[in-house]
Amino acid sequence: MRLTFLGTGTSHGMPVIGCSCRACSSPDGRDARYRASILVEEGGASAVVDAGPEFRLQALRARIGLPGGPPPPEALLLTHAHSDHVNGLDDIRPLTMERVLPVYGERETLDETARRFAYAFRKTQEGGGKPRIELREAPPGGIEIGALGELKAVPVPLLHGSIPALGWRFGRLAYLTDASAIPEGSFRLLEGVEVLVVDGLRARPHETHFSFGQAIAAARRIGAASTWITHICHEATHEEIEAYCAAEGADVGARPAWDGLSLEL
Ligand SMILES: [Zn+2]
Ligand SMILES: [Zn+2]
Ligand SMILES: [Zn+2]
Repeated sequence: MRLTFLGTGTSHGMPVIGCSCRACSSPDGRDARYRASILVEEGGASAVVDAGPEFRLQALRARIGLPGGPPPPEALLLTHAHSDHVNGLDDIRPLTMERVLPVYGERETLDETARRFAYAFRKTQEGGGKPRIELREAPPGGIEIGALGELKAVPVPLLHGSIPALGWRFGRLAYLTDASAIPEGSFRLLEGVEVLVVDGLRARPHETHFSFGQAIAAARRIGAASTWITHICHEATHEEIEAYCAAEGADVGARPAWDGLSLEL
């Protein structure tokens, strides 16, 4: 299985418009973060989790569908319908020329997506202009993606402040962005996860996101051997987060992720 980070930033992205703080003006390329998204590939099948405002740039950077790059995703998996996770949905149009792309999420996420992208579901004139998507409620038992079901994705209910969000599990990998709590029942769904990608906004607590410390505590409870922090804001540079993780989360292999990082699992 291959995991590629298409984006690792919080809702503003990094650098933040108009911000000249230490992290936003950092010369370290890893401090430039598009909105949070991943691509997961297994045996020729692939899926993208979320399509934020930079989806087109992310897909081009990852060479999706280009020679030597990963194949076009066969499914889009949504975590929730906040703008930083769905506002690039129109940009998937080139991926839906040949076929309708299934989009999986929770009922509320799909309803909100249908409202925001109402034009996509309206009968209009023929030709281009609209992403051809089919909204499908994520079955609790998971989805088999690819002609032979090579990639299995299992939804994991999370709490993002007071709203629900979905994490997604792919075998030994789990992607839990936009979470401030993991419901007790979801830990059962995370048993055996070895590689964890988890929301860690900043060092200070936040109402709707894990802090670095809370992300590491969640990884410890899950028993992850390797932990990648994502959905990062500009309060710390990549180097500072690495130092924090080395001091506080070495036992769960904690590190901040960065855009373009690709891991063979
Ligand atoms: Zn977000
Ligand atoms: Zn800044
Ligand atoms: Zn969110």
